[in-house]
Amino acid sequence: MDKKVRVRFAPSPTGFMHVGNFRSALYDYLFAKKNGGDFVLRIEDTDQKRFVPGALESLINVLDWAGLRYDEGVFQSAGIKNDKIPTTESKNYPGILEAGEFEPYIQSEKLEIYKKYADQLVKSGHAYYCFCEPERLEKMRADQTVEKKAPMYDRYCLHNVSEEEINKNLKNSCSYTIRMKMPEGEMIEADDLVRGKVSFKTDLIDDQILMKSDGFPTYHLANVIDDHEMGITHVIRGEEWLPSLPKHILLYRYFDWELPKFAHLPLLLNPDKTKLSKRQGDVAVEDYIKKGYLKEAIINFVALLGWNPGAGETQEIFSLDELVQRFELEKVHKAGAVFDLKKLDWINAEYIKKLSIDELYEKALPFFEQKEFFIQAGAEKKSPEFLKRVLTVEFDRLPKLSDVGENNQFFFATDLNYDKSLLRWKEMTDEYLKKNLEKVQELLGNISEDEWSRENLEAKLLAVAGEKRGELLWPLRAALTGTQKSPSPFEVAWVLGKTESLRRIEKAVSLVV
Ligand code: GLU
Repeated sequence: MDKKVRVRFAPSPTGFMHVGNFRSALYDYLFAKKNGGDFVLRIEDTDQKRFVPGALESLINVLDWAGLRYDEGVFQSAGIKNDKIPTTESKNYPGILEAGEFEPYIQSEKLEIYKKYADQLVKSGHAYYCFCEPERLEKMRADQTVEKKAPMYDRYCLHNVSEEEINKNLKNSCSYTIRMKMPEGEMIEADDLVRGKVSFKTDLIDDQILMKSDGFPTYHLANVIDDHEMGITHVIRGEEWLPSLPKHILLYRYFDWELPKFAHLPLLLNPDKTKLSKRQGDVAVEDYIKKGYLKEAIINFVALLGWNPGAGETQEIFSLDELVQRFELEKVHKAGAVFDLKKLDWINAEYIKKLSIDELYEKALPFFEQKEFFIQAGAEKKSPEFLKRVLTVEFDRLPKLSDVGENNQFFFATDLNYDKSLLRWKEMTDEYLKKNLEKVQELLGNISEDEWSRENLEAKLLAVAGEKRGELLWPLRAALTGTQKSPSPFEVAWVLGKTESLRRIEKAVSLVV
């Protein structure tokens, strides 16, 4: 029988959740769920210099927000799915809990274990102590650059330091690192689930440091040990880790451990095909949440960054459950995936259209509350009824929640400032303009509050306008909005309500003498 699928998301707490990392987490989740497997959250914090306070909490929060529930690992109490697993308080991070058979799930909490394995590699001759001082290494690199050689450790300590010297240095507590010994003249091959056959020449690979002088392991050592100890069957991660693969494969060989399967996900690209970077836009999931993209839309969009259900399939909108059903690692492509914001806007707009007005109101209110035009508006413009009317008019042309009201700020204005010429339709005279404005004034004045619906307003205004729609409706729309472009005057009048609409028309009439 096949082993139970176990995958892990192994972020480093170095900042916000990068969309590329979020995609790895999502694919991990989809793959685990589809195959009835386990999903583990492990924290790789071996690079203490890059640690960012709050990053760990923020990673957990994003996974929790997205509903990517994991079975074991690192939690904040709210995220724990299975309350039968006993939890332990993290040693290094107050307020963080760990739960699962393979605790600890935070690498800085198991340094002795990595040390033990590193020593084992030294004993078996697959790794060696390096006592080189930083100055020597810097000079070596500088010389290599001058000679146009790839920067690589020159193996000074492998060839020139005797057993006796090593023991002496260790006794004297000299600072050291442990380096992995790369075999010479070998080709390391692997079958990547996404990339197919990949191969690497060992001669081009540096003797990677496995243990640093601060007593911490490097990513490579800790990652392989943990994947093995935690019974990980599939390593799913971004393509930027592909160059690490031969080192990892060798470590598995040196330890005589079974190799997991590997899947390296395609790079994320800017629209100009360069690697996705902060310079060209936001790269943190948190930024997209803040901008008012819905959870479902972000998940849907990120799922399509490198995967689609197959040739001939046109479906683009997928719920998380559907993704679990449809996802296959075999369908992940090799080519870089373009991060196309227009597509995200489109997907988001599709999800916004699916919301009821009440749901949309709940989600949009915090965004209204940040807008200057909203803050300045009168109380009646902040009422749920008024905002729901605005949203009813806007909801099918809203790419994201932070756009609410943006294009229709006139709804919230106390007084409109516009030039009288805006009211004029084509060449109409002032006199004729005034007549038309008075006509709509009278007409709207005769519609009772109870009958003030979009349909009624439209039917009555169109009936009176007859053939000459522009002559009647343009001045009305301009009077109500003070802008060149807006939703139809029926919709605007409906949102504003009878009193406010008549007040605005009255002002327009007074402008035309
Ligand atoms: N700690 C690595 C990261 O930050 C994990 C890479 C891997 O999944 O092996 O993404």
